[in-house]
Order: sequence, then C-alpha cells, then structure tokens
Amino acid sequence: MSRSVDLDTLLLRDFAPRPELRLARAGAPDRPRFPAIDAHNHLGGAFGDASGDWPGRPVGELLALMDEAGVERIVDLDGRFGDALAREIARLQAPHPDRFAVFCGLDDGTFATDPAFGETEARRLRASAAAGARGLKVWKTLGLRLRDGRDHLIAVDDERLDPLWAAAADLGLPVMIHVADPVAFFQPADRFNERIEELAAHPDWHFFPTRPEPDPAYPGFPPFEEIMEQFAGLLGRHPRTVFIGAHVGCYAENLAWVGEALAAFPNFHVDPSARMAELGRQPYSARDFFLRWQDRILFGSDAAPNLAAYRRWYRFLETRDEYFDYGGGQGRWNVSALDLPDDVLRKVYRENALRLIWQGGVPAMSFGSGGRTGRVERPSAPGTTPRPPSRALDSGFNVARGTAASLP
Ligand SMILES: [Zn+2]
Repeated sequence: MSRSVDLDTLLLRDFAPRPELRLARAGAPDRPRFPAIDAHNHLGGAFGDASGDWPGRPVGELLALMDEAGVERIVDLDGRFGDALAREIARLQAPHPDRFAVFCGLDDGTFATDPAFGETEARRLRASAAAGARGLKVWKTLGLRLRDGRDHLIAVDDERLDPLWAAAADLGLPVMIHVADPVAFFQPADRFNERIEELAAHPDWHFFPTRPEPDPAYPGFPPFEEIMEQFAGLLGRHPRTVFIGAHVGCYAENLAWVGEALAAFPNFHVDPSARMAELGRQPYSARDFFLRWQDRILFGSDAAPNLAAYRRWYRFLETRDEYFDYGGGQGRWNVSALDLPDDVLRKVYRENALRLIWQGGVPAMSFGSGGRTGRVERPSAPGTTPRPPSRALDSGFNVARGTAASLP
C-alpha cells in the first residue's frame, strides 16, 4: 500500500471501493428482447421528481424515446382527478390509446373532513372512469399519514373505503397500490440501518419511531408489519378487485411473504418497480419468484423515462451479468441479473399488463410455468374468501407453513 488510510478518519461518504472482479459481462441491451410495457410510471408531475421533465416536454419526444427503448406502452399513474385527469388523458391517452394508459387518483386531502370519504371516492372513481381512466393509483399515505375526522390513522383495510374497492371491481379498473415502504425506513436510523445514507438524505422517508400497539389513536407511525397485515386484509376482503402491489407487492425484502400473498389472493399482482436493488441482491430467490409468478408480475420502472434506466432493467431481467450497479441510492451493494427465459419475459414485459390494463382487467389465474396459463377464471368462488397470511410476517416458520397450506 503506497499510502495508507486512517480508518479512524475515513468517512462513510468517502468510502468507494472498486470491485476488482474480472467477469465476462453481456452489458445492457439497447432494447428488450420483446416489446415492453412500463406499467408503473409518472408522466404528469403528481409525484414531483418521479416525472423528471416529461410533464413539460412534447409527447412526440417521449414517443421517440419509447421507440428507441423498445417500450410499446406506458402506464401514467399521475392522472389524479377532475380537470387534471381530463388534461392528462387528452395529452397522452386519447391521441395515443395504444401507447399510454392514464390511471386516476384519490382526493385524500378531504378524508379528515368528510366522514363518508369512501362513498365520495367511489363516486369520484366512477366519474374518473367515465372520463377514460384505466385504473386507480393509491399511494402509501394510506395507512401511514391519512387521518379521519377523529385524527385517527386510516388503516389500509379500513371498511369505510369498501365502497371504493367495490366500485373499482364493478368498473373493471385495476388498482395500483403502494403501501408502507422499505423495511429499513421503519427502523432506527443508526449504524445498523442498511439504508442509512438514503434516510440521511430524505429524513421525511423515515417512519420512526413506530407506535408500540395497534391503536389508531396512538401517535406515531404503525410498524411495517401492521401495515402489511392490513394490506393482506384488504386483498382478502375484496377478491373481485384487481390489485397491483407496487414495488414487488410492497415487501421486496421478503419474497416468501409476497409469494404467500400471491398464492392466497388470486386478485393480487405485483410490479418490480424501483426494487432492482432488492431483487438483485437475492437473485436465486428472485428468479424463482419470477418463474413461479410469471403470470402475475407486470414490468414497471417507476423511473422518469430514460434510455439508461430502461436498459439497466433489460440487463437485469435478461442477462446473467453478476454484481453490477443497479443505479445506486438505495443501499451499498450491487446486483446480479435474473436470466429469465423467453416465455417468462414475454408475459412480464407485456402480456400481463396488456391483459389487465388494456383488455378488460380480468385476472387470468394461473399457477406457474406448468399451470393453467392464460385461462380466465373468477378470482375465487363464493364463500371461499382467502385467508390472509399469518400474523407473524417475518417468521420463516409461519411463512413457510402459510405458503404450504394455501397452495392451490
Ligand atoms: Zn411510483
């Protein structure tokens, strides 16, 4: 060592080890092996940075980028409601119905003053559907921040929202839902936190301290597990409603839990958006997950459309590249790719989204590669409401037992 470093003064932010691996690498393909549908994107600025500068750029430029990236269609989750929704549909979906689908949103700012917020949002959803919305986006504020007139947190499976979920089912609109957030965001921001640098940069993403008991009147955030139990309750109570769980069903750290939920709830689907870092640090488990649930996973990026981000996804899904940069920002590790077979890629890239979002929103139940692929059935028979996953979400024993018991 020519010049040694004093480990008592080296700062974490300055530590930048270079991998010395010498590996054969495919690199990032220019285009996906099959046409892709990005089922999770933000083109309207409703989530700020997530849209980049696309809300202000000509749609022709976006179409050109999509053509270059091999992206056939994009789902824009930024429709909101009312005039904003009408404008977003007029800008994207109406002139290009085979390139864009616009999802609407809730007016959750009124929940604290409107005791009938569920009925109100059901009415709003019907109006949004009449205006052309192709789905509903629900954000993580539900369960984390939204409070009712008594200043109690509104649970993800609060029955006051039942009219909304029933309306979505009646209208045949899928619900893209994001609840909770990475598990580490609910943990202390200490030296053991695997997302400590991200939390330091975004203190408002830190849902801590969590409250000690499941009491909606208690101040503080609910624990991660409590939100996920509510989510499972929601999926089970509304079997006719098609839910797409954003970010690998909102629990990419625990693919066994997500797989258990997929097995228990045929109305449940997931996208991998913004979770390459999580999937790619458990590549064997993630590959198994994609093979098993190939009919229930919709490709989505959640990144302002750009060539580099799309190509990184193609590399991740298609190649055998090991230990490469996932784009950074979430944790100090690299990822390995999934090497998915062609028939799985076709479904994940395009066919599942086409079926759910452009062809009527009827879930096609299937059970993995050897299963009843493509056969359309009712999500569940009357009187056989699926049971939610076990309470002990992070317990390997209970997860394994629940999975075995709920397999079809
Ligand atoms: Zn998003």
